[in-house]
This record gives sequence, C-alpha cells and structure tokens, in this order.
Amino acid sequence: QITPPQQVSAILEKLAKNGFEAYLVGGCVRDCLLGTDPIDWDLTTNARPEQVKKVFAAYPVLETGIRHGTVTVLLDHVPIEVTTYRSDIGYTDHRHPDAVRFTPDLREDLARRDFTVNALAWSPETGFIDYFNGINDLAQRRLRCVGEASVRFEEDALRILRALRFSSVLGFPISPDTSAAIHQKKELLSFVAAERVQKELSRCLCGKNIQEILLDYPDVLSLFIPQLSRMKGFEQHNPHHVYDILEHTAKAVSVIEPDPVLRLAMLFHDTGKPDCFSIDEDGVGHFYGHAQKSVQIAKKALQTLRFDRTTIENVLFLVKYHDTMLPTERKGIKRWLNRFGETKLRLLLPVKYADTLALAPEYHHRLSELHDFSEMLETLLQEQACFSVSQLAVNGNDLIQAGVTKGPQVGVALEFLLNAVIEETVPNDREQLLKYWKEQKGTDQ
Ligand code: ATP
Ligand code: MG
Repeated sequence: QITPPQQVSAILEKLAKNGFEAYLVGGCVRDCLLGTDPIDWDLTTNARPEQVKKVFAAYPVLETGIRHGTVTVLLDHVPIEVTTYRSDIGYTDHRHPDAVRFTPDLREDLARRDFTVNALAWSPETGFIDYFNGINDLAQRRLRCVGEASVRFEEDALRILRALRFSSVLGFPISPDTSAAIHQKKELLSFVAAERVQKELSRCLCGKNIQEILLDYPDVLSLFIPQLSRMKGFEQHNPHHVYDILEHTAKAVSVIEPDPVLRLAMLFHDTGKPDCFSIDEDGVGHFYGHAQKSVQIAKKALQTLRFDRTTIENVLFLVKYHDTMLPTERKGIKRWLNRFGETKLRLLLPVKYADTLALAPEYHHRLSELHDFSEMLETLLQEQACFSVSQLAVNGNDLIQAGVTKGPQVGVALEFLLNAVIEETVPNDREQLLKYWKEQKGTDQ
C-alpha cells in the first residue's frame, strides 16, 4: 500500500471522480516499494492534456511538456506532473521518439518505460499494476529492461547510462541479458548530448554500487574517459598496490563520500598512470609525473562533458595534489592554507584518506599521518591562525602611514609581513608588526 502526499491523492481522486483512470507511475512506485522517499510523484492518466486542464481548471496548470502529453498541476504550490498514457514511435536519432501517440491503454504506456522496476503503476482502487514482473525484480534486486534490451537501447541510448546509474544508486545488479546489450550497444552513446552524459555520470558515481559498475563496465565509461580501459589489468610492480589501477580506482571512488567533486577526483586521480610507467633496475614500478598527466586527462574529459567551472577547478586541484606529501608542522600547514585556502584543503583530506584506504592494508598506517594533519589543521583554524593578508593585524594604510610608498610596494610589504607571521618570527599584532617593519626596513638600507 502507498500513502502519497495529500495533494497527490487529491489529484488521483479528482481524475477518478471525473471518470478517468489515474495512476502513480515510475520512480515513486519503485521507491515506495523499496521503502525510500520518492523525489517526485509522477501521475499517468488516460485523460488527454486538454481534459486534465479542464478537470483542474480551478488550479494553475503549466504546460511543461505538452507535446509529450505532460502538464504540471500546482496544488498548494506543490508541482505534480500528470502525463497522458502514450506510446513512442520511431527513434531515428537513437535518443528521442520521432512522435508520440496518446493511447487509452495503460499497458502500452508502461511498455515504453525503460526498466521493469520503473514500469509499475499504482492507484488506490487497483493497487499495484505489474505487467512486466517489476515487483519480482525489485524483490530479487535486479535491473532489467522492459522488452528486448538491445532494441530498447537502439531506441534511446541514454537508457544505457540510466541502467548504470540505477544499478549504482539502487545497488541492483544488472540482469545478464540487459548487461550483454549494454556492452554490445555502447557505441550508441555518441548520440547522447554531453550534458545528459554528465548528469547521469555524476549520479552514477555517487551511487553505493559504483565499485561494481567501474569494474564491470570500463568499456562503456571509457567512451568518455578513454584511459579506464587501459587501467584494467595494469600490473603496477609496486608493493603499495595489491590491485591493478582500475581496481584501486574503483575502490577509492567507492570509499570516498558520495559528493560529485570528490568522486570525480578519485575517478581521475590515477588515469595518468598508464602513460607514466617505468620499471627501475630493481624491478619496482614507478609512475613519475602521473598526477600532472591525470590532470590533463581530467581537464579534457570534464570540459568535453561540460562540467561547470568550479567543479573542474576543484577536481583538477585534488587530482594534482592527491599524491603530494602533506606538511606535518604548523608553519607548513599555514603555508598550504595560504596557497590553497581552507575550502580546498578540506576537500583534499578525504581524497588522501580514500587513496590510502585503497592501498594494500600494510600501508594503512599512513592514515594516522593524515589524522595528525587534520587535527593540526583544525587547531590552526580554531585559533584563527593568520595565513592570508586579509587576516593581518595591519593593512595597506597602516603601512603607508609608516612610510611605505603608495602602489605595488604596499602589496610587497604586506606579503613580507605575512610571511614573517606564518613563519612565527613575529606575532600578528599591530604594534609589533609595525615595529618589525621599521627594524627590517632599517637593516635593508
Ligand atoms: P529518479 O527521479 O529517481 O531519477 P525516476 O525513475 O523517477 O527516477 P525519471 O527520469 O524521473 O526517473 O523518469 C520517470 C519515469 O519515466 C521512469 O521511472 C521511467 O518509467 C520513465 N523514463 C524516464 N526516462 C526514460 C527513458 N529514457 N526511456 C524510457 N523510460 C523512461
Ligand atoms: Mg523521477
């Protein structure tokens, strides 16, 4: 049984009272059966869009997708999408139907949907409608196409990425026939717009099953990140690594918290390795300069997928420094704070944790070094340690009054004093800073 929000029930009821069929459909039915909260509540009905508008004449109705039969009814400011039963015809571009046709048959509407677990309907009068064994697939935790998988991917290639995303997010393995069709039809992904790939990839990366997806579908994902295929089976000849590069990456992605920037950073952090590999005379493998190479690879891929500038900037920072030794004492950490700022350093810590956790267990003692860094960082931030010019107890005007010439000299002097404060040669105190400045000026001349 489903208890939808009151506004949703009201819409179902009103359509039924007016002699129409109306069902909850798709993600909300699936999520209710899984016991999770649906993101939105979609309705499907045999009423045509004009008829829906007539039934809800007293309410604001937005024509949000009228060509596909979708209108949005606003009830108490809650937007609810109501879509007329339809079937899609012809997919010349492997992405959009050439035309949609309204149908009086719920079964036809459910048949056009992508996966069996997304093709369930429910109404208070009928309970669950399950023409494609979706309830059984939910119970078995199995993602399976409605109908012949390869045909469904031919129609709309986005479904290939939706399959990976739902599998990752729901934690459902993909059924063998659907999985085989994904590998077979992956090239069709070239018909999907970069923005759509980007959205699906981000959601996929943030799913709980991402480790399996990366290990099982590198051939698909390498259409967007070509290096992934080469990372599979790459023997690192290095005692740090008990896994090949792809296994290490998949593990690192899965252990970091599900935030797109952090997960993208882990996805890309070692992509430069295959290009930077050498073996020394002792038979130990090295990857000199791999972080920089990974930055180049990440930049190209993220720009092609049209990620926003802030995401790209943060991911590239994290990839670039994921392998750099962190400072361990106060002054060093303050210098890092000065160079990168608090926000970026806070992102770098989980990246280094995840990278270390994905190494062989005997290297996990490095986690304690990270812990020490983290504690010291918190202490410095708590005591509001000065690491930027804006935190200095003197400003440009103070220095001009103390005799510094207006112009670029002021900046130089402030940097000089900041450096002295970071190095703890002088406390961040107005009088002492001015005194120190005069002394230093004296020794300069
Ligand atoms: P979520 O909202 O959590 O992403 P959802 O299942 O609601 O999951 P939507 O993208 O909101 O997914 O789509 C709603 C429903 O429309 C789906 O459950 C599915 O039945 C159908 N659907 C969406 N996109 C496609 C598609 N590309 N091909 C076939 N059916 C689709
Ligand atoms: Mg939805």
